[in-house]
Amino acid sequence: MSVIEQSAPAKYPDVRNYIGGSFVDSNGSGHLDVTNPADGSVISRVPLSGMNEVDRAVQVARKAQSAWAAVPIKERVQVFYRYKSLLEKNIDELSALVTEENGKIRGEAEAEVLKSAELCEFACSLPQIIPGEVLEVSRGVECRVERYPVGIVASIAPFNFPNMVPNWTIPNAIALGNAMILKPSEQVPLSSGRIAELLSQAGLPDGILNVVHGGQATVEAICDHPDIEAISFVGSTHVAKIVYRRGSENLKRVLALGGAKNHLIVMPDANPDMTSSNVVASMAGCAGQRCMAASVMVAVGMTDHIIDRMTGIVRGMVPGVHLGPVISKAAKERIEKYIAEAEAAGAKVLVDGRGYTVAGKEGGYFVGPTLIDYVTPDMRIAQEEIFGPVMVIVRAKNVDEALGVQQRSRYGNAASVFTESGGVARYVMEKASAGMVGVNVGVPVPREPFGFGGWNESKFGTGDITGRGSIEFWTKSKKMTTKWSKEAGVNWMS
Ligand code: NAD
Repeated sequence: MSVIEQSAPAKYPDVRNYIGGSFVDSNGSGHLDVTNPADGSVISRVPLSGMNEVDRAVQVARKAQSAWAAVPIKERVQVFYRYKSLLEKNIDELSALVTEENGKIRGEAEAEVLKSAELCEFACSLPQIIPGEVLEVSRGVECRVERYPVGIVASIAPFNFPNMVPNWTIPNAIALGNAMILKPSEQVPLSSGRIAELLSQAGLPDGILNVVHGGQATVEAICDHPDIEAISFVGSTHVAKIVYRRGSENLKRVLALGGAKNHLIVMPDANPDMTSSNVVASMAGCAGQRCMAASVMVAVGMTDHIIDRMTGIVRGMVPGVHLGPVISKAAKERIEKYIAEAEAAGAKVLVDGRGYTVAGKEGGYFVGPTLIDYVTPDMRIAQEEIFGPVMVIVRAKNVDEALGVQQRSRYGNAASVFTESGGVARYVMEKASAGMVGVNVGVPVPREPFGFGGWNESKFGTGDITGRGSIEFWTKSKKMTTKWSKEAGVNWMS
């Protein structure tokens, strides 16, 4: 994307911030183009907001939040029952928008919107989950714990799930009584405007969800604003560290999810058909742009028959049909450079996705699915996050050697093992250094009510971003001690 000063003809009007229930212009430092990655066309422009816009949203959120917090949670969640059905009713339009700004193919975009609906389901169940604790702690003296909203919170999102990642945080944070400033990725800003409109249609009061668009300066303003109490961030590890440090330095609670390098350990006894199709689906789904995508297969012993099957499947995949483009020209160039570097270092490219173009969409940023064998753990391609449809195969003699490759990764989002042996499966699940592990599944995403969150440099902060693990993050607990019985004895805490 390039900074442009003049209006360019585009399919959609300029994106605007959403503050206090209305779309408003930003007085920020210019605009960026928003492109459709499938053909490279400019479809809109997004404003680059600064501290003034963030502050404007915070002032509005502050006014709205105290009234919202006073609404009982059973009433607050009614908004999310209605919002969930609006997501389902509008799935065609919402998923088309995801496809247009992010590039993922239709089925993947629909799955993303359905996942957003599932996230609402969990938020709707919060009244059944969060009732406080109460106990008579000494004669006539009762302690209880109640949860209160944190106040004004921020959610900063990446480009790869324009609809789902905002919905990782919106339903739970808002149902728990907070007001939110959402900062979508400047590469995919369109979906969040529709999310805000649908929430308003579902009855969310003005000022509870505000959307402030922009990039680095917007994020820095969020980290520095004194009235924002909590920040959730999802994006690369490099930026997750910046946000975690800067937000914590400003005494906010921060949960920052970072990048990933997910390993699939394939044992020789693994079911060949299931394993080959699952491994390929994990690496190529969403063009490899998922933080749960498998990017390293550690092939243990005699697994050539599985690799041959994978090669056949990958050769049959057609970019533009079975997988979409990557997000930008820069991403395509970066991914292709990693492949070239691995080849030069001695790895064997089994299927090469470089230089791919789709007829009629020559301006698109397509990378064909790529398989690279005989990669060694010391190569950059085996260690760094590629974020594209590329699977490297590292050979290992036994399960411990395979686990060693996984455990030495700086990341720790997901890991999975493919085997028919329960003992090996359990061993790998226990020993893998990752927050989300699986057996015979390529994408071990824990669905609600379980929380989503990795280990190591894939997550900074405590708790998870979804599910039960997020409740602690979005609330403050208050411990109440009461004594109404005049007969209760006198002791050290009277
Ligand atoms: P990114 O880190 O470039 O951007 C994320 C957000 O940070 C965006 O809103 C962006 O505007 C902002 N930002 C970018 N540079 C910044 C800077 N220097 N200072 C402050 N803010 C800045 O990530 P991306 O490219 O949009 O998304 C892809 C990354 O997200 C991958 O690394 C992927 O693994 C990760 N991701 C992780 C998870 C997870 O659950 N762990 C989920 C989805 C995506």
